Amino acid sequence: MTSASVPIESENSRPTPTIEDYLGIIYTLERDGQPVIASRLAEMLDVSAPTVTITLKRMQRDGWIMSGEKKEIRLSSTGQEAAKTVIRRHMLTEWMLSRVLNVPWSQIHEEAHHLEHSISRDVELRLRDSMEDPSFCPHGNPLPGNEALAAAWFPLTECAVGQDVIVRRIHERAEDNQLLLAFLEKNSVLPGHKARILDVLPFNETVRLNIGGEIITLGYSAARQVYVEIVPGST
Ligand SMILES: [Zn+2]
Ligand SMILES: [Zn+2]
Repeated sequence: MTSASVPIESENSRPTPTIEDYLGIIYTLERDGQPVIASRLAEMLDVSAPTVTITLKRMQRDGWIMSGEKKEIRLSSTGQEAAKTVIRRHMLTEWMLSRVLNVPWSQIHEEAHHLEHSISRDVELRLRDSMEDPSFCPHGNPLPGNEALAAAWFPLTECAVGQDVIVRRIHERAEDNQLLLAFLEKNSVLPGHKARILDVLPFNETVRLNIGGEIITLGYSAARQVYVEIVPGST
């Protein structure tokens, strides 16, 4: 078992669950090149703006974040390491729930969200080994350090009619959307599944696809969360 790539962590200096949630969201927004501002966090965390302001002040005081120009928030290097740690633990827990406990795919994110805060470094390493050191979570989102592997995938809204694609990823943005995940699971819109694009209708904001012989229509807001790769050798 190798542990070189996992930073040493003192459990005493571990952030609280609330701070871990903020760190994870800030990391994901930074990774995607999205602006990290308090109002956006309030919206994503479904809490009031004053609550976010208070928490961010505390995080700055404790060295997890720095505030940059135009109210933009950036992770400090300590904040970045802590964010990567909680994201890794979350994603490994999703695999464990899926593979070991057979929790349905659409429910593992929600369950892992509660468990991730109580995973120790030792359990994380054991999970990593028993889940065979995955590069992606069961939704296809990259574990920190594997982002480049997902860089070429693009959302369904950018597909051309007639393209054969492989579903690769349901973006983190959608993992909180229980109804959407249940719909995708029921209709086999899952990482690794092949689909043919039947139409992309900007005026109607819909994408229609054939997946496993079933015809599925997704609105743009859902289709934007589903990332695909063109089947090698097809046009
Ligand atoms: Zn998740
Ligand atoms: Zn996931």
